[in-house]
Amino acid sequence: AKDLGRNSYQLYTPAMNARSFERLAMESSLRHALSRHEFTLVYQGKIDLNSGRMSGVEALVRWRHPEMGLISPAEFIPLAENMGLISEIGAWVLRAACRQCQSWHELGLPRVRMAVNVSTLQFREGDVAELVKQALTESGLPPQFLELEITESVLMQRVDENAHVLQELRSMGIHISIDDFGTGYSSLSYLKRMPIDALKIDRSFVNDITEDGDGAAIVSTIINLAHNLKLRAVAEGVETQEQADFLRARGCDEIQGFLVSRPVSADDLVSLFDRNLL
Ligand code: C2E
Ligand code: CA
Ligand code: CA
Ligand code: CA
Repeated sequence: AKDLGRNSYQLYTPAMNARSFERLAMESSLRHALSRHEFTLVYQGKIDLNSGRMSGVEALVRWRHPEMGLISPAEFIPLAENMGLISEIGAWVLRAACRQCQSWHELGLPRVRMAVNVSTLQFREGDVAELVKQALTESGLPPQFLELEITESVLMQRVDENAHVLQELRSMGIHISIDDFGTGYSSLSYLKRMPIDALKIDRSFVNDITEDGDGAAIVSTIINLAHNLKLRAVAEGVETQEQADFLRARGCDEIQGFLVSRPVSADDLVSLFDRNLL
């Protein structure tokens, strides 16, 4: 669709054409995905390393495309951000997740907290605090059962404005965690100024725990940092018993990963409530 000269088209290989065609097709169907009810949420438990119980749940969005099948958020979230659709999708996710959590509570299941990812752009451009208020009111979920996961890179830009928004959310009683911690550029002085509750140690470090000394040293350092700042330390992407043992020995508070459960549907998650998962 680029207005290039005729000869320029020779620069594109058939594979590139196919890829950009696919992208175009994906873009046009992404525009209609919400109204066609093609988004769905799956849930992954967070397990408290002391009790062995599920203490929280992270909502992860999926797009069921009628022809292309299940599309990963890693693929369509960046696209949605570029297309200006992220706030709408984010609002849907937040409302659906709050409703789901409240309905588990109403079923009499143990009261877990629901964590929702907020994208960089959504945090910067949307009125997240207003959105959160609406989602809580509408669902009836008490604020202390909602947690927002925000990536480190978002928070480290425009620190003062962000701290202000977070403060507003915090004063409502919402929990905040920093996602993918260790992959961005946070300085310790920023961290101290941010009203946050937990650091989520990025999967890449957890993955490295037993391979060599580096991952282990980094993970231990982040756990200590979290505790010194009076924050919880949560490890994501825990796949092996060895990693879980290491994390427990170092005092990590919660783990999340394929070792305990893959992200599953709301119905499937129910079987994980109220039993020891370690
Ligand atoms: P994230 O927030 O870091 O989420 C963790 C990702 O790791 C999820 O991928 C999850 O399925 C995967 N995972 C969990 N345990 C393991 C494990 O043990 N091993 C491995 N290899 N992977 C594991 P998913 O669901 O594909 O999501 C990818 C990213 O997309 C998320 O990374 C998050 O940044 C974004 N995302 C997902 N849902 C939403 C959403 O509702 N809104 C926004 N804005 N972003 C979302
Ligand atoms: Ca996350
Ligand atoms: Ca993460
Ligand atoms: Ca990640």
